[in-house]
Amino acid sequence: MTNLNNIVNDIEQYLKHQIEEGETNTEISQDIMEKLSNKTIPKTTTTVSDSTPATPTAPAKPAPTPTKTAKPATAVKVNATGCADMDAITLKISSCTQCSLAKTRTNTVPGQGSNSPEIMFIGEAPGAKEDEQGRPFVGRSGNFLEKMIVAMGYSRETVFIGNILKCRPPDNRKPTQEEIDICIPYLKQQIAVLKPKVIIALGATSVKGLLGKTPAISKLRGEWQKFEGIPLMPTFHPAYILRNQSKKGELWADLKKVLTFLGKTPPPIKKQ
Ligand code: SF4
Repeated sequence: MTNLNNIVNDIEQYLKHQIEEGETNTEISQDIMEKLSNKTIPKTTTTVSDSTPATPTAPAKPAPTPTKTAKPATAVKVNATGCADMDAITLKISSCTQCSLAKTRTNTVPGQGSNSPEIMFIGEAPGAKEDEQGRPFVGRSGNFLEKMIVAMGYSRETVFIGNILKCRPPDNRKPTQEEIDICIPYLKQQIAVLKPKVIIALGATSVKGLLGKTPAISKLRGEWQKFEGIPLMPTFHPAYILRNQSKKGELWADLKKVLTFLGKTPPPIKKQ
């Protein structure tokens, strides 16, 4: 059950986020626009069913004639997790202050990629560059991950890349168990919406966050696991491979298992 005031506040945050992202157009009902512009949100107890699209209440006075460019209103659908879709999850993350990392972050890093990916790559937490840009896996680790993705026959746009935590731990320290416990519901909501065919867990923290298992990644890697029914392949984190180039072959072997599972043949590696 969701209060109408919360929905309107969420939409307001969402629009701010869209503007920060450089968006100049979006679809929204006239009724909601009025509530956002004059802030006279009624202290109503009107609620929205978790499974029913939110229907804007009828305006108290006749709505002004829409301009020629106005588009039909888009209702906000709220599902059982309280989130409508990836945009709604991103919106919730952008204003999250549930753990202390909210005080030190520059940007939240919700994740990036396709809305219907075959593969979801999950790392640990944003680093300095990710925090600066609000994008996951940029910098050296990101470049390496992107090469892996391309070598598999995909691109950054056709997979989804995310992290266990959505905010950067100061000095790139490891996430605490408490931070993981507080933040992991966002990732679970993303997985539930995206429904990837395979999850690739990059590094020990990713495996710990998703499976609650803490054996050394060198022992668990390459062995199929399951996360809520979705096949999960644990492997090394790209940052670890950059420091331990001799492990590249093992990483590639794990990725080839994923491709085989998906019925794909890895494209031949081009000689540099
Ligand atoms: S790390 Fe997660 S729980 Fe903590 S503030 Fe960021 S989004 Fe919220």
